[in-house]
Amino acid sequence: KKMARKFFVGGNWKCNGTVESVSKLVDTLNAGEIVSTDIVEVVVAPTFIHIPLVKDRLRSEIQVSAQNCWVKKGGAYTGEVSAEQLVDLGIPYVILGHSERRHILKESHDFVGQKCAYALSKGLKVIACIGETLDEREAGNTIKVCAEQLIAIKEAIGENWSDVVVAYEPVWAIGTGKVATPEQAEEVHAELRKWLAENVSAEVAEATRILYGGSVTAGNCKELAKKPNVDGFLVGGAALKPEFIDIINSAQ
Ligand code: PGA
Repeated sequence: KKMARKFFVGGNWKCNGTVESVSKLVDTLNAGEIVSTDIVEVVVAPTFIHIPLVKDRLRSEIQVSAQNCWVKKGGAYTGEVSAEQLVDLGIPYVILGHSERRHILKESHDFVGQKCAYALSKGLKVIACIGETLDEREAGNTIKVCAEQLIAIKEAIGENWSDVVVAYEPVWAIGTGKVATPEQAEEVHAELRKWLAENVSAEVAEATRILYGGSVTAGNCKELAKKPNVDGFLVGGAALKPEFIDIINSAQ
C-alpha cells in the first residue's frame, strides 16, 4: 500500500555552510552509494546563495530545493527571492512553512498557505511543513494545531495537492535530539492522512507523502520508516553529515 507513495528524503541545510563546507558536503553526497531513485526521491535545500554551486555540482539523482520563497510576484521586496526566480534557475522544490519561519519570523498560517498557492501556481513543488509546539502537545492540541495549519493551506490551494509533500515536524523535536517515537509519529501521520481524506479527498490522502522531521538520524530512521504512514523524512542536522546517505537508504 505504501509503495504507491515513493519514499522521500529531504535535507534541510538551513542557514549553514560556507563555499568550502558546502563543496565538501556535495563531494560526500556524490560519492555515497544510494538506492535507486525508483525507490526514493531525494532533495537537498541549501541557502539561496549556495544553490547555484550545489545545482552545478551535485549528482543528478539528488534534486535541489529552496528553503523559502516570496508570497507573490517578485518586485520591490528587498531581501526576498521569488518563485519565478527559482523556476528560472531550474529549481523544482521549495520548503514552505518551516517552524523556524513560523515561530522566529512570525509567518502566519494564512501567509504560509498563500506562499504554497503562489509557488504551486508557478510550477514549483512544495514541501509544506506543519507541527505543534511542546505546550500545544501537552495541552492535547497536536491534531488541532496541525489541522489549523493544513486548513490554511487548503483554503489557499484547494484540491491541488499533487505537487505537495507534507512534512510533520513537531517543534519540540527539531534540533533538540528528542526524536518522536515511531508510535508518536505514526499516530499523528495517520490522523493527518485522515484529515486529508475527510477535507480534501480519498485520492489525495492516499497519494500525498507525509514526511516526519525532527532529530532524524541514521540511528533512528529505520524504525520510523517502517511505519505505514511515514513516507520519508525532512532532515536538518544529520543532513549536513555523511549519515544523510544512510537516511536516504532507509527507504522502504
Ligand atoms: P533537525 O531539523 O533534523 O536538525 O531536528 C529538522 C528540520 O528542521 O527540518
